[in-house]
Amino acid sequence: MSPATRIDRCRSCGASGTESILDLGRTPLANALLHEHELDRPEPTHPLELVFCPACALVQINATVPPDELFRDYPYFSSYSDTAVARARELAQRLIRSRTLGAGSLVVEAASNDGYLLRHYREAGIPVLGIEPAINVAEVAVQNGIPTRTDFFGAELARSLVAEAHRADVFHANNVLAHVPDLNGFVEGIATLLAPGGLGSIEFPYLRDLIDHVEFDTIYHEHLCYFSLTAVDALFRRHGLVVVDVERIPIHGGSLRVFCGRAGEHAQSGRPGALLAEEAELGMQHIGYYRSFAERVGKLRDELREQLARLKQAGHRIAAYGASAKGSTLLNYFGIGRETLDFVADKSRVKQGLYTPGTHLPIVPPERLLEEQPDYVLLLTWNFAEEILAEQQAFREAGGRFVLPIPRLEVV
Ligand code: ZN
Repeated sequence: MSPATRIDRCRSCGASGTESILDLGRTPLANALLHEHELDRPEPTHPLELVFCPACALVQINATVPPDELFRDYPYFSSYSDTAVARARELAQRLIRSRTLGAGSLVVEAASNDGYLLRHYREAGIPVLGIEPAINVAEVAVQNGIPTRTDFFGAELARSLVAEAHRADVFHANNVLAHVPDLNGFVEGIATLLAPGGLGSIEFPYLRDLIDHVEFDTIYHEHLCYFSLTAVDALFRRHGLVVVDVERIPIHGGSLRVFCGRAGEHAQSGRPGALLAEEAELGMQHIGYYRSFAERVGKLRDELREQLARLKQAGHRIAAYGASAKGSTLLNYFGIGRETLDFVADKSRVKQGLYTPGTHLPIVPPERLLEEQPDYVLLLTWNFAEEILAEQQAFREAGGRFVLPIPRLEVV
């Protein structure tokens, strides 16, 4: 295991003098699920601290774990979430119409996962190219008929694609910008790869939702950056791209979908300007906006720990749902483990039979909830609450209750 690299300069603008927002201490990698035989071994941990750049307003963590360690055997398959698949189809259909895409077009996606998005273009007869660094995930995409390169997207790959006469009429990057160590290289790559008049569609969790709803559990080593539109706008402009439209979308606890293109090639909607003005009004370009965050996270920790302790004292059995990265941050930082929770249920068969990092909870299929009928289930994947509560109707009708930690602590 290679150590994390400490980052002293801003990942976007290169300025020094970042300021601390929240220090989560040393934690194991949030997706480093363990096999049973690994439970007795010392587990590697890395520093995890959220900082703010006063020069360009980018919020980021100040350590980088080598990407090869994070992504080569990534257990997350997008198609496992019904919500993600439905949203992907809707976005593809919309862009096919609005960009009048056809057999002569090309749609490229960075971090294309198992082809959950590109397959909707392919089904409409539009050529696609996926770029996915995780070997096991890229193999699944290829089996699904999605041409996929096993690689990290960046300036260098974009130049070689252009040299092979690939230009993107639409370029997607969903939930990847936050993971990229070379942020400027990635955005330069978008500017390089876009065909004349081409459009980039970039989605990432919105920092404002993270701060306002205390979504601190979305902070983990894979997520290097946490974006406001202010920070993204500065980053894109540096590479000749402008934000031509923006939407707030209710995914992953609140995200932004930003449409970008080369300066001068697109009509700009009024929405980016309006959102930038809102962020300025809120003060998101100053450290003051972020000052109370650590305190609010501490308060949530106290409340949740007290709540679970009360339930435990009353003799209730408690399990968790969702062996997710955010669950790992929450359990490790809040110090909630086997003394409180019996197991974690998760739909992903890749995760079942393994153990959660740091807390070593066994991961089991969701059917175990009905079989064992624990009294309470701590919902760690609260971003899919609606979907999971609906799926667990039988468990709930039998008396099982869910504890939702975020956006506010509630029992349903
Ligand atoms: Zn900066």
